Amino acid sequence: MSDGCHHAFIGMGSNLGDRRSFLEKASQEIGNHPQVRVIKLSSLYETEPVGYLDQGWFLNQVMEIETTLTPEELLSFLQGIEDKLGRKRLIRWGPRVIDLDILLYGELTIETPELVIPHPRMYERGFVMLPLQEIAPDLIHPDGKTTREHLAMLIKTEKMEKIRLFQD
Ligand code: AMP
Repeated sequence: MSDGCHHAFIGMGSNLGDRRSFLEKASQEIGNHPQVRVIKLSSLYETEPVGYLDQGWFLNQVMEIETTLTPEELLSFLQGIEDKLGRKRLIRWGPRVIDLDILLYGELTIETPELVIPHPRMYERGFVMLPLQEIAPDLIHPDGKTTREHLAMLIKTEKMEKIRLFQD
């Protein structure tokens, strides 16, 4: 993969059933696509739910890939994996077996009804920024700031949800 190849970051989360196994299955599915190469996978982080609070803690992870898929193709590929793994879209921000978001796609900024990149809420979410800092601390975002700088700004707001490294 070289021509038209882009680095992208995917945020993954699960808070129903065997959360770890859903994340592993999602990673495998992503890596099986002929136009996707997995570059890095963060540790697993356990996160207190936000929004709809009457649900279990999430397991979150961030993945770096290299891909020749367009952002729209990547979104529809990820939605296919969510459907295959049985995600039920019942309550917004509610329980889910798997949630896959495109966080970043190169230095691209996109804003269409179907797709917003960078992901609109990523900079407010510790469960995205902490794993992202683990695998790409010096990455430069479309606004010119690094992951480190974004995370430092988030920490200053003191609005970060509770997060811990997940241990077996
Ligand atoms: P959610 O249920 O929170 O995962 O939201 C899914 C919806 O968000 C889908 O209909 C997508 O079209 C839309 N969406 C917008 N931007 C993104 C993004 N960067 N990654 C994933 N889904 C996105």
